[in-house]
Amino acid sequence: MPLVAIVGRPNVGKSTIFNRLTESRAAITHDESGVTRDRVYGNAIWNGVDFDVVDTGGYVEASTDRFEQAVKEQVEIAVDEADLVLFVVDVRAGVTDLDDRVAALLRSSSKPVVVMANKADNEKLRWDASEFYSFGLGEVFPVSATNGTGTGELLDDITRQLPTEGASVAKSSGPRIAVIGRPNVGKSSLVNALLGVDRTIVTEVSGTTRDSIDTVMKYHGREITLVDTAGLRRKARVRENIEFYSVLRTERAIRECDVAILLIDATDGLEAQDIRVLKEAERLRKGLLIGMNKWDLVDKETNTARDVERAIHDRLQTLDYVPVVFISALTKQRTHKLVDRALEIVDERSKRVPTSKLNDTMLAAVERSYPPTHRNRFVRIKYVSQVSVGPPVFAFFCNYPDGIRESYRRYLENQIRDSFGFEGVPLSIVFRKK
Ligand code: GDP
Ligand code: GDP
Repeated sequence: MPLVAIVGRPNVGKSTIFNRLTESRAAITHDESGVTRDRVYGNAIWNGVDFDVVDTGGYVEASTDRFEQAVKEQVEIAVDEADLVLFVVDVRAGVTDLDDRVAALLRSSSKPVVVMANKADNEKLRWDASEFYSFGLGEVFPVSATNGTGTGELLDDITRQLPTEGASVAKSSGPRIAVIGRPNVGKSSLVNALLGVDRTIVTEVSGTTRDSIDTVMKYHGREITLVDTAGLRRKARVRENIEFYSVLRTERAIRECDVAILLIDATDGLEAQDIRVLKEAERLRKGLLIGMNKWDLVDKETNTARDVERAIHDRLQTLDYVPVVFISALTKQRTHKLVDRALEIVDERSKRVPTSKLNDTMLAAVERSYPPTHRNRFVRIKYVSQVSVGPPVFAFFCNYPDGIRESYRRYLENQIRDSFGFEGVPLSIVFRKK
């Protein structure tokens, strides 16, 4: 989905227009890495065009000394990350010095920019908006974020300039593998190790569009696309900026991939945020794999791979079907094994179990352990079928679908895994009335 970033100095009305654009659309409300996202990240739709909106202004603390730097940084990152920048200014205040500096930054970027002259609540103020043509950023849209005047024209222009669907996704028929993880776990290093070149340099040459971080590579004759969330890096001074965009990128990469490789820094171990990311990928039914990176730094005498893997699976609980590969992006130890495993998961995810085999195995498993009774009635499972591949979905036909408990669903899932594999693949199990 395309991303629109709202920039501008404080008090021009960024959060007001943000709320208007995303109103009645579910904003993401969970809180990650200390960044309150409901305030700043949401989804908008206009004329059938869906896009994400981010209000980057949330991070600008109004302490005067760092103020300018913060606004500048906010703009630079927005230019790197977004597909379009919505530059908000205040028609009542007119052009300020800071507005001019922001405009200069935006002029030197290749990203589409839409200028919104806010607080144009009446006809006279709408006329005053023409002052902002001095930015040299093209058409100026007078808007009143509070009463909604002018938002239609603004949105028409925004959606017209957004890349069309699929444009930011590299054209390749092969599987898409996302490399995700917290900052500094080694995502760039891994991608560079796999490509055999320092791709960050390549990216800088090829421009700043987000699609350039998708890398198509040939691997043992098979074409794969690496969806890299490390992306373009700025020496951001505001830590929240880095964290926020890293969370945002991760989410997008997961949505666009077949398999997500979650990299973990072995010297830090698994953190709560990692588990949240895995759960998100599971919810989206993507293949999952953990790369335990920087294994070269770990003392193997006291930490054997087997013990570490067991500890991870204990912590992951129901996600214990996710395989772990111990790697070093630095020494390239097992980095190819990691890709091999990811490709195995791609194949597992699109595997179909023949219906007769599935029924033989699963009805036998039901015989071994019947579902608990439901309101004193026997729950009988009569037939099983894999109704979908990539992601796999299994339907169990029974007399009381609502009478099946979660613990029994788990039992069936484990039985499927024991018999048919599906390592690293979230399984959907549904119960239907026959
Ligand atoms: P931000 O700091 O850029 O996010 O600005 P806010 O959205 O918090 O708005 C700052 C102030 O401007 C608030 O008091 C808003 O109510 C007010 N404001 C925002 N949009 C408009 C508008 O279109 N007209 C008027 N009159 N006031 C507005
Ligand atoms: P990213 O933010 O996830 O893309 O992480 P980077 O790839 O930039 O790596 C962060 C730091 O960890 C850099 O200093 C890397 O050199 C270092 N690093 C990455 N992978 C390894 C590894 O396997 N072993 C060691 N010792 N250092 C690594």
